[in-house]
Amino acid sequence: MSSEIKKLIAGNAAFRKKFFNTTTIFDELVAFGQRPKIMIISCSDSRVDPAMVFDAQPGELFVVRNVANLVPPCEQSGKYHGTSAALEFAVRFLQVEHIIILGHSYCGGIQALIDNAELLDKNSDNFIAQWMQLARPAYDKMNEEHASLTEQEKNTRCEQYALANSLENLMSFSWIAERVEQQKLQLHAWYFELSTGLIANYEKTNNTWNEL
Ligand SMILES: [Zn+2]
Repeated sequence: MSSEIKKLIAGNAAFRKKFFNTTTIFDELVAFGQRPKIMIISCSDSRVDPAMVFDAQPGELFVVRNVANLVPPCEQSGKYHGTSAALEFAVRFLQVEHIIILGHSYCGGIQALIDNAELLDKNSDNFIAQWMQLARPAYDKMNEEHASLTEQEKNTRCEQYALANSLENLMSFSWIAERVEQQKLQLHAWYFELSTGLIANYEKTNNTWNEL
């Protein structure tokens, strides 16, 4: 058995010791089900684990992770919409009160978008390139307005524009727009800075990012 797998098994033993030795939070979560108030859409990046970033307990966060934390627009193509299915479950069944899209610096997905922007092809069998088409408007905006920026600044702009774009895509789902209008649901775009651990919130009204 590889040392990586052994480490996982030891980790699970430590987890069970912490959570299953006595009456714990899991007894309630099993008996009554999960009732998280918050959904988080974050990147698959191994450095951006929402439960860890927010020091959250089991049952607190309903999480979907994908490459570059992108939200697709509402589409009825009959294909396999994993992120949209998670959104539907969180909003219509769990009735979460907040959806937070958690972007981050040094995002590999956004880097792939910048490196391959001219090569992106909708008919490609390259799944990453096709998926990153969702963030193409962010790349185009960055490219038009900020061609003189440094490489790192280009990445930051792209990461943040993609978050704003995903925030708009959330509103294309009728059951999200409805609940936002009824003030039952709030949408947030947050940007996690990997080098400091700090988080900035996107203020849509004046288009700024402010530290929480
Ligand atoms: Zn990422």
